[in-house]
Amino acid sequence: MSLGVGHELAAWACWPEFSRGRRFPEPAAPTRNEHQRDRDRIVHSTAFRRLVYKTQVFVNHEGDLFRTRLTHSLEVAQVARSVARELRLNEDLVEAIALAHDLGHTPFGHAGQDALHACMAPHGGFEHNLQSLRVVDRLEQRYFAFDGLNLTFESREGILKHCSRRHAAQLCADEPDGPARRFLEGGQPGLEAQLVNLADEVAYCTHDIDDGLRAGLLQPAELHGVPLFARWHEEARAAREAVAPASRGPSEVAAAGSAPAGRRLVFETLRRLLSALIADIVHSTKTAIASAAPADVDAVRRGPALVRLSTSMRQEVDTLKRYLFDALYRHPQVTRTTLLARQVVTDLFHAYLARPAEMPADFVDTGDVPRGVADYIAGMTDRFALREHERLTGQRIFAEA
Ligand code: MG
Repeated sequence: MSLGVGHELAAWACWPEFSRGRRFPEPAAPTRNEHQRDRDRIVHSTAFRRLVYKTQVFVNHEGDLFRTRLTHSLEVAQVARSVARELRLNEDLVEAIALAHDLGHTPFGHAGQDALHACMAPHGGFEHNLQSLRVVDRLEQRYFAFDGLNLTFESREGILKHCSRRHAAQLCADEPDGPARRFLEGGQPGLEAQLVNLADEVAYCTHDIDDGLRAGLLQPAELHGVPLFARWHEEARAAREAVAPASRGPSEVAAAGSAPAGRRLVFETLRRLLSALIADIVHSTKTAIASAAPADVDAVRRGPALVRLSTSMRQEVDTLKRYLFDALYRHPQVTRTTLLARQVVTDLFHAYLARPAEMPADFVDTGDVPRGVADYIAGMTDRFALREHERLTGQRIFAEA
């Protein structure tokens, strides 16, 4: 398939004309291929618009410049598309999966997900990957003919990136050849899905450093102990010397993150880091594909995972992730917010379970009240959850907001 001058889809890419199709067959669109159409359906969905007011790491009211789930999803799409074009993978499909990958996330990031999972433990649990699939398969209600967005198999395969055997068995009971089947039989998803999974990790590792420094929770001096950051920080500093060695006053030598010149140094460091990660994925994955030589996407699905970082870069990324876990995600200021967020979600769950009529009728009339409560809460933005919490409990959490 031609993607324009010099760009042809590789044999091992997901070709839109050979899609496994939609659960409810639809006539082809006159001007778009099936994966462009998936991406457009995702962009127009209600769940996508809500991502702008959902926490990535920092709760929405903590600042206007921190990543939200929406900007995170756009950054994942940017990273994944850069690699996809270089590897001649299906960019439209990669974009669709990237934009949809976090649609099932609760308000308040992982704290919200953990709290909802704990509340749902007696009722089948709550898992954000499954919920993302549930959003695009059932919860979006925009079409006369079906619930959900009726996406192609390939987009749904990418969205369901993890799934327990128990949940996979439940999903396969409804749809034996659906995207959950590989969690029972083994195998990989297509390369586009593998790519978005790695792009997610690369994007959050990079942008969480930026947000952490901006918030003052991470210190550049500590980050010098993380080789992946230190290397590019040094190079950026050297590049700054080369640009204007004489014009630099003492104030501009200030720590990164604490002065405008420091912010530039952070950006110059992180853009080098991100480019290095993208180049590493391209090189390592090209090598892996050349050695596996899959004939087509079905051969990809039967083989080992092929989208990867080099061994040395993987170790460096893991070191960075451990640092971020200890220094940022477990920072007292973040965990304080986390505890409050858990309380909001837990209180909301019990309030709606006791009084389902407080929810819109759509979520009450499903025959499974706890699941309806989980669906309703999972769809909320941070601020709507806080407003509902205040309405139902009379308590004001995050009073400083
Ligand atoms: Mg993500």
